[in-house]
Amino acid sequence: MPAVVNPATEQTIAQLPDAGVEETDAAVARAKAAFPAWRAVSPTDRARLIRRVATLVEANVEELARIESQNVGKPIGGARAEVGMVAQVFHFYAGAVDKHHGQTIPVAGGVDLTFREPLGVVGLIVPWNFPLNIASWKVGPALACGNTVVLKPAELTPLSALRLAELVLEAGIPEGVVNVVVGPGRVVGQRLVEHADVAKIGFTGSTEVGRSVMQAAAGTIKRVTLELGGKSANVVFADADLEQAAASAPYAVFDNAGQDCCARSRILVERSVYDRFAELLVDATRNVKVGDPQDEATEMGPLISSQHRETVSSFVDGNTLFTGATPSGPGFWFPCTLVEATNDDRVAREEVFGPVAALIPFADEEDAVRIANDTPYGLSGSIWTENGARAMRVARALETGVLSINSNASVRPSTPFGGFKQSGFGRELGMQALDGYSEVKNVYMAT
Ligand code: NDP
Repeated sequence: MPAVVNPATEQTIAQLPDAGVEETDAAVARAKAAFPAWRAVSPTDRARLIRRVATLVEANVEELARIESQNVGKPIGGARAEVGMVAQVFHFYAGAVDKHHGQTIPVAGGVDLTFREPLGVVGLIVPWNFPLNIASWKVGPALACGNTVVLKPAELTPLSALRLAELVLEAGIPEGVVNVVVGPGRVVGQRLVEHADVAKIGFTGSTEVGRSVMQAAAGTIKRVTLELGGKSANVVFADADLEQAAASAPYAVFDNAGQDCCARSRILVERSVYDRFAELLVDATRNVKVGDPQDEATEMGPLISSQHRETVSSFVDGNTLFTGATPSGPGFWFPCTLVEATNDDRVAREEVFGPVAALIPFADEEDAVRIANDTPYGLSGSIWTENGARAMRVARALETGVLSINSNASVRPSTPFGGFKQSGFGRELGMQALDGYSEVKNVYMAT
């Protein structure tokens, strides 16, 4: 029975039974049994039920935010905003139910129609960094398309998914449509990936585990969507509003203590303004408020575990430009850290998943694009410049799924999110996510 720990206090906050293969099979069987009735629910009623989930999430923001804050160590203000987004995601997919549809295609001798069919039972595997948020990105479109769900949260952070499952029932969605199984990834996750009755896996996690999910899914030709790691670039040109770029850059790395696949953890700065920008960045980083996640003023909490803190520490071995302060006492704290690096250094090549940013100079636009693309990843990124044509040129040249210009924002319920290269494939959020939770059926009728 593994303990669920608050990373800010190191105290056990819950103790849950560990599910195994038998419980996973039982959840899949329940989801399979619930599928025919759920797919038959009229679009209007399905939309109404999903919207009720959204309003129940809104009604329980405070409780859900507290759960998420205590289980992940997130600052309470940020946790509240994340739960707000969860509600928006369910609102969006409630509205999308009857707007994702087939076509009529002109053909000779008859009528040709396409239908969007649900897949059946889908297995949703989510990580510990944004447990409820990422669950909603998958559960929302899966339900909207008429699928039933087995959701596997990360073992470290199962609490918000369990509460969501209760709200789903309270909303009136029938039993068996959404099932949550808590247990180790290599047992529960692996079983879902291999299970013949699971039609698709929506996975968010590390590139390493994503690779093994893709391999195991081959056995049943299972559909997979993979949202994996990142090593995104924040590209600052000399003609940018440097004050604004520097004020925003720390939050693009240190939000969620850097445990963010979209973290702009490589800050690329045009050499002519490098020294000035570095000064501004150090000042802005000094202002990041690190401390008790329950304090409304806190901007950064601890890392998820002591084991993860050891991994993050291994990236800081010299060329440190700035190290912030951390609270004393219990908690898996790690300071905001800025290092000067080249793009060949380990800190610039591998995903740190902690509050460590690498500052890298570049010579000109061509050099910036070359360095930004010189990574196996391609998830997000930012471009800071006052030159609109350059912003568009660079945006088109960067090999990444999500980009912001003069901003570090990454996700919105209505816009597609996902990676290029080894950051994965398939899109979450927006109408695009619905394509990943449905199959196109083509029907021709001779007339
Ligand atoms: P992991 O890949 O270790 O785990 C992700 C999920 O997969 C967890 O639920 C885990 O379960 C489960 N899992 C582990 N092993 C297996 C397996 N063999 N088969 C099936 N499922 C398995 O990632 P982390 O939890 O450490 O999350 C951090 C990673 O997630 C980072 O690399 C980050 O970049 C990425 N991420 C990507 C995002 C994106 O959208 N692209 C967004 C957020 C994070 P358990 O932990 O219970 O063992």
